[in-house]
Amino acid sequence: MFFDTKAVHAGITPDPATGSIVPPIYQTATYILEEVGKDKGFDYTRSSNPTRATLENSLAILEGGKYGISFSSGMASVDAILKLLSSGDHVVSSNDVYGGVFRLFNEVLSRYGLSFTFVNTSEPSAVEEAIRPNTKLIWLETPTNPLLQITDIDLISKIAKAHDILLGVDSTFATPYLLRPLEWEVDIVMHSTTKYLSGHNQIIGGILITNSEELNGKLKFLQKTIGAVSSPFDCWLTLLGLKTLSLRMARHSSNGLEVAQFLADHPKVERVIYPGLQSHPQHEIAKRQMKAFSGMISFDLKGGFDAGKTLMNSVQLCALAESLGAVESMITHPASMTHADVPEDIRVARGLTNGLVRISVGIEDVRDIMADLEQALDKV
Ligand SMILES: *Cc1c(COP(=O)(O)O)cnc(C)c1O
Repeated sequence: MFFDTKAVHAGITPDPATGSIVPPIYQTATYILEEVGKDKGFDYTRSSNPTRATLENSLAILEGGKYGISFSSGMASVDAILKLLSSGDHVVSSNDVYGGVFRLFNEVLSRYGLSFTFVNTSEPSAVEEAIRPNTKLIWLETPTNPLLQITDIDLISKIAKAHDILLGVDSTFATPYLLRPLEWEVDIVMHSTTKYLSGHNQIIGGILITNSEELNGKLKFLQKTIGAVSSPFDCWLTLLGLKTLSLRMARHSSNGLEVAQFLADHPKVERVIYPGLQSHPQHEIAKRQMKAFSGMISFDLKGGFDAGKTLMNSVQLCALAESLGAVESMITHPASMTHADVPEDIRVARGLTNGLVRISVGIEDVRDIMADLEQALDKV
């Protein structure tokens, strides 16, 4: 089956009781046993729920994996991976990670005896050099947020295998429509389903996907033990979103490329970061490992912070909002919004300048998106 067909049908079977084409929402906490020790595969919704199981199965199939483990947020799913580790263990992580992931690593988990080295993972030698005898996890984000750096997953996977280190990839910006990291034998793929996968700004959720029976067992154990599970209703809403994933991603990507070219040609724009542009330092890698380049663009205006602020206060169609990956175009100022918790010196050293603007290009008519940006740029 081709991917576009899978997006509509994977893991979905008509409800056995009624034939309902849409999987029902099993809004229940518990399940009545027929007799002691005999259940129908479900005993308590923290452990398992049929609506959640359907979502886990669908997403596992789309990602080309065997097992899906769903969580109440992307952050809860990252946290579960880190709970595979023990005090004293070390992690090598992409330095341009999602702001919340940086906060979790640096401000919470570092208090529990885990240590972290942040490197630019688009340079494989930097990853290799950061590995220590106690390194247990390499954590990649590709494309990264918000600098859209691309990591060569194949190369990092070989390094991880050679050192017997677990490799996890936050693939939120790409989705399985554009990139399937398991093809390079990554151990665990993670998504914030809040973004492109659900696609309509309707839920907060996360998912982990793995091919390893052992990892699945450990992650399912953490899921039910910690209890940060997604609700049946949120799973159901995500399942509805998934059906149009292919259509949406194709449109996000074509709109994204047009808007990136428009910005690159605009006299008030200093630089545009978009993996689909030849000017992107890892454009060739992106072309090789991704089907297209998604709708995420970051750019700097001539005039820095004040110019960025004027632009963001002047847009009318684009929503000034945190988050990304939904049908609506959204615009963000990472330095004051998503990455406010990353200390300024670290931020700026990484290239995340005070004037950087990130746009999540939606699925509207691209002419309207560009007209909105044009009138806002006029005011800068
Ligand atoms: C949003 C996001 C997260 C966190 O997910 P939540 O669902 O908001 O908890 C992690 N990584 C990336 C790349 C994200 O965009």
